[in-house]
Order: sequence, then structure tokens, then C-alpha cells
Amino acid sequence: MRKLLIIILFFSCIGNSGTQGIKPLNIIILIGDGMGLPQITGGTYANNNESELENFKNIGLIKTFAKDDLVTDSAASGTAFACGVKTYNGTIGIDYKGKEHISILEICQKIGYSTGIIVTSEITHATPASYYAKVQSRDNHEEIANQLSSKNINFFVGGGKKYFVDRKDKRNLFNEMQDYDFVNNIKEYNKSKSSKIGFLTYDDAPPSLPEGRIPSLDKLTKLTIEKLKTESKPFFLVIEGSQIDWACHDHDIDYFVEEFKEFDKTIKTVMDFAKKDKNTLVVVTADHETGGFHILGGRILKENSYIKGDFLTTGHSGDMVPIFSYGPHSENFSGIYDNTEIFKKLNEIVKK
Ligand SMILES: [Zn+2]
Repeated sequence: MRKLLIIILFFSCIGNSGTQGIKPLNIIILIGDGMGLPQITGGTYANNNESELENFKNIGLIKTFAKDDLVTDSAASGTAFACGVKTYNGTIGIDYKGKEHISILEICQKIGYSTGIIVTSEITHATPASYYAKVQSRDNHEEIANQLSSKNINFFVGGGKKYFVDRKDKRNLFNEMQDYDFVNNIKEYNKSKSSKIGFLTYDDAPPSLPEGRIPSLDKLTKLTIEKLKTESKPFFLVIEGSQIDWACHDHDIDYFVEEFKEFDKTIKTVMDFAKKDKNTLVVVTADHETGGFHILGGRILKENSYIKGDFLTTGHSGDMVPIFSYGPHSENFSGIYDNTEIFKKLNEIVKK
């Protein structure tokens, strides 16, 4: 009996190693909106000089300029890395000639991936929308929600419930999305066994962390990965720490540090999974830097470290932003390149 068990184990090991290269890759993209190098530096120092990002070996820089402006917004940069094309600020999924482009998430769906999007902004905000919507104006939230309603994304989590259920056209998209389980809180999200769940966390934009936003991004990420794992398909997951940007627009250092810390925890949650899974590519980047922030002082302590600094603008800056990657094919993401290359690199990987 024991011999038989050893033989079975031996052959099952051979079988695994033989198919490893063929098994499609899971892909997890983490976007810190507005998380340029100053936010990473400041966030790390204020986090008692620790960040999960320090564990990445493949690091690069990306150029973020938009079609019509050296300083991009989240719509143009989101479109660049979701769809691989440069466009005007404010535009989502459509290039400067007016042509609509398929996103990497939509390509993954076509080849049998499960998909998920988790954000701390409205789910219809520019960055997440770049993965599923085609609109001339990022402000058209109700149209973006309308497009999301037919995109078959397995799990989506974010604010902006009113764009689904309290619309000018009087439609209730929840009623139209019959195959979805819409949940109201993290308990229900955890409990639901549906392979399609919408969790609209707030009617409007979710509040900031200092204002008490729940549930935490890392908890949502953990649960969503669990759900995607049970789908027994490869998966493509987008996670955005949306409010690092909002904090830097507000020139509020404590707010951005809180948001950075939560995002950093989320990266750790993803890395803990990816290290065990060994078949997941993790890419962490930003769409642009926000605020033209500079660190001008502070202190690293055992606990309660802090930073001081100043902002040059209430808008974004045109600085290059870092990109970090881990897992199979992660070496493709080091170097200095244009943000549209992120789409192209991912597209090549999933086509293999
Ligand atoms: Zn912004």
C-alpha cells in the first residue's frame, strides 16, 4: 500500500511539473493612484521605515504623459495601461482619433479568465473604468455604470452605488443584472457563494481612512482572491488604492500616509498569496504622481515615525513613476518605458 502511494505521488509530481509552464498565469495589478516616488518614500518613512515594496527585485520607471498634456490625469493614464493607447485627459478606453480599444481585462475574459476589480473610490472612477468602459468623459458616471452592467466582471467592489440605483433614466441596474448577487457588507460578501458579486460599498465616493472608511482594502483583497481561487480558472484582478491621490490633492500628509499604509498592507496580502501560488504575476504601479510632493523633514522612530513636506501643485505632476513586479515574467517589467507598454507586455504574456 505504501509503495503504491509513493508511486502515485511520484507520478503526480511529474504531472505537475510537466504542466506548470502551460497553466495560464493569474495576474494582479495594484495601482496606487497618485503614488509617485515621493509618496512611496514618505509613506515608507512614516510607516517606521518599512514597506512591502522593498521586497520587490524587478523595478522600473514609467513615463506617464497624456496625448495632449505632459501631465496626465487618471483617465488618460488608466487608458494607457489598460488599453495600450495614448489619449486625451478625461477620456476612457478611446484613443485620440475616437477609436475604442479593448482592455487587457476584456482580453483576459475572452480567453477564459475570471476577473475582479476592487477600489477605494467609486467603481465608476477613471482608473477602474479604464478596464471596462469606453467614454469620452470620465464624468459620465451613469454611462460608465451602464457599461459595467454588461461586462460580466465576476467580483467588483467600490463606491458609487447611486450610479446604479438612483439614475436620471430611472433604470435600476441591480434589477437588470439578474445573475449578480449584490451584497451590502463584508459579512455578506464573505458568505456569498455566487461567482458574480457586486459590492457597492457607499452611495457616493467612499470616505477617507481618517474618516473611517470600511471595509479595509486588504481584507477585501484577501476575500476576493479566495473567491477567484475557487473559480478554478486563471484570474485577472485590479486593485486600486484610490485615495493616495485625493489626499495629495488636499495637501494632507496624514491622510496620504494612512492611505499608503493600507495600500502597502494590501500589497503584502497579494504577495503572501503570490509566493505560495507561484503562478501569479504581480505588478504594482501608479498612474501619476499627485501634488508635486517633496519630503523636507520628519523622523524615523520605532513607532509613530512622521514626515514633513510640501506640495507644489493641487494637481498632478509629470514625473515618471515607479513600477514593481513579482512572479513569472516579472523581469519584463524592469527598465524605463512608456505607460502604454504595460498593456503590451501583459498582452504578450497572456497570448503565450
Ligand atoms: Zn488626481
